[in-house]
Amino acid sequence: MRLKHIKDAETKIYESEYVISEPLSYKGNWNSLFQNNNDIFLEIGMGKGDFIISLALANPNINYIGVEKYASVLLICTNKLKLMDKIQNLQLICFDAKYIDDIFDKEISRLYLNFSDPWPKNRHHSRRLSSEFFLKKYDSIFKNKNLIELKTDNDDLFNYSVESFKKYGYDIEKIDYNYDALYKTEYEKKFISKGINIKYVFVSKNK
Ligand code: SAH
Repeated sequence: MRLKHIKDAETKIYESEYVISEPLSYKGNWNSLFQNNNDIFLEIGMGKGDFIISLALANPNINYIGVEKYASVLLICTNKLKLMDKIQNLQLICFDAKYIDDIFDKEISRLYLNFSDPWPKNRHHSRRLSSEFFLKKYDSIFKNKNLIELKTDNDDLFNYSVESFKKYGYDIEKIDYNYDALYKTEYEKKFISKGINIKYVFVSKNK
């Protein structure tokens, strides 16, 4: 049942006008999919999409790309989008971010990591989206300056990420241990309703 469900999702997401089926072929050329050459902001692990949809609606002069590994999760987002007017500045990709440098080349202006999987076991830390493995990959996707915004409920992931950013040469622009964001993700709303503080960090690194 589960396999069938996933197989259906993998077909169905590509029925959406937002989902790009051959992301590798757009490397270095993502702005050709949008109506202008505005900055591209990327969210990795966008889940069901509330955050990136809200941002795209609020900021029509920025182009947004969302990456999500699982088709079954992305399908929930594309089903939401079906009920809405077309958002011109939004594109979605079903892709594993461990290969992110295969699909972007010096074209991203900002990266959002929201409530990424915490991978609590030490031996899995390199799978965290803020590990050195991923920070190396991100170096080649940013256009001018590297800018990353990270939000999480998880103290261990948060402290690890701040250290990982610093060790890799990022400067802390802003840090907040009880962040009240204007645009909230699905996980964020759930954690806030349980009274859990949201941790936020905004970091930058010159080329
Ligand atoms: N950002 C959303 C979802 C958080 S859960 C929110 O805050 O509500 C983390 C999401 O990241 C999951 O949907 C998971 O499938 C996705 N994800 C985890 N590892 C990923 C990877 N390597 N590449 C792309 N997406 C990934």
